[in-house]
Amino acid sequence: MNMSQGKLFVLSGPSAVGKGSLCRLLLERDPELTLSVSATTRAPRSGEIHGKEYFFYNEKDFEGMIRQDSFLEWAKVYDHYYGTPKAYVDEILNSGKDCILEIDVQGALQIKKRRPGAVLIFIKPPSREALAERIRKRGTENSDEIQKRVSQADSEMSYQSEYRHVVVNDDLLRAADEVQGIMNGYRQEENG
Ligand code: 5GP
Repeated sequence: MNMSQGKLFVLSGPSAVGKGSLCRLLLERDPELTLSVSATTRAPRSGEIHGKEYFFYNEKDFEGMIRQDSFLEWAKVYDHYYGTPKAYVDEILNSGKDCILEIDVQGALQIKKRRPGAVLIFIKPPSREALAERIRKRGTENSDEIQKRVSQADSEMSYQSEYRHVVVNDDLLRAADEVQGIMNGYRQEENG
């Protein structure tokens, strides 16, 4: 049997742009799409389960996996390691399902090099002010940390030209429709 490989989609953009909510909505709507579960060294938040939101590891184990080349990409995001397990993604793609990664900009640029067929989608805020407001509203960071995230977002925004598609997250449902349209376009291309 010659089952065709799934397609790799990468959803990326600055912190607090809403890519997590967007990704959850796409997964609810689209049964052909599977989320890759990342590995991280950050502590689980309340309710997070190992193997569901993330695979949680300590730094020593994570660094061991880096040495074994277990990651398709990895990055240090706000003092913690995050990485996409290569075997996990390939298992999804080899089963013929499409795989979506929700990762930061550094990671997306590594995927672009290592998997040139991947479709990179940059999610951006309607304005810098809107993003700063969202970071503040999350309320999980102090003012130094907020400032750090806003300036980090400024530098991440400068990479949007590296992506195949840029979608403005002005409204969650509208942005999800636009991303879904982009994904469907690639699927038709492959089937046609
Ligand atoms: P959080 O800790 O809030 O779940 O995620 C923090 C940031 O890490 C988000 O911007 C998220 O997209 C990014 N991230 C999550 N998983 C990965 C991954 O596997 N690789 C990379 N490069 N970034 C990730």
